[in-house]
Amino acid sequence: MKLAIAPLAALAVAAGAGAAGNSTHWEYQGKAGAEHWGELAPEFSACREGKAQSPVNIRAHRAGTSAPIGFGYRAGSADIVNNGHTVQVDLADGGGIEVAGTRYRLVQFHFHTPSEEAINGRRYPLVAHLVHKNDAGELAVVAVLFRKGRDNAALAPVFAGMPAAAGEKRAAGVEFDPATLLPARRSYYGYTGSLTTPPCSEGVRWHILKQPVEVSPAQLAAFRKLYRMNARPVQPLNGREVVVNP
Ligand SMILES: [Zn+2]
Repeated sequence: MKLAIAPLAALAVAAGAGAAGNSTHWEYQGKAGAEHWGELAPEFSACREGKAQSPVNIRAHRAGTSAPIGFGYRAGSADIVNNGHTVQVDLADGGGIEVAGTRYRLVQFHFHTPSEEAINGRRYPLVAHLVHKNDAGELAVVAVLFRKGRDNAALAPVFAGMPAAAGEKRAAGVEFDPATLLPARRSYYGYTGSLTTPPCSEGVRWHILKQPVEVSPAQLAAFRKLYRMNARPVQPLNGREVVVNP
């Protein structure tokens, strides 16, 4: 897999790190929108030419099975960042996951509305992407889907501290435990894809938890006040297999 350089660049972009990252302006709609990302900069070419892109529409069907995710998250300090594309929470020491014998450290999580991934053609109002990295620099993402319902207590400290302006960063003020974001059941759809933002680097392992958690209409409105729509359209599977666990 072509992973050596891309994930580092991708993380810099995801974190909004201007100096180290790519400064090419992109958006979700319009002239610099998702349909044009691949034309905006040579280093974004995977967005147009990649054959294993994300997100995808997942059709619930019996496919191969894969290893369970071992979650080893822990509470720690967190910074809430408005990076101009989403609200992201950077974690200094949030623990990690283990999948099929490989350990990945949780680096950050962030949100998209609506959910980027579709299940049987249906998108959820919100998704959290928990981004992990292993020692080789390879990325694994766990996606937690949100359906409309009750107030989500785990989101409260994050959504209470969302900086309104792009480029702003704020300490969460409380220890944040990422495990509080997870649903009770940890079964998932798995496939290999890409970052869903430029440079759309491939080789990212996706784990989409099947059981959604809840978000209240008020919480959703608070996020949408900052980002009304920040989801990339679904991309063709091009023959990729989606596995189910269990
Ligand atoms: Zn994401």
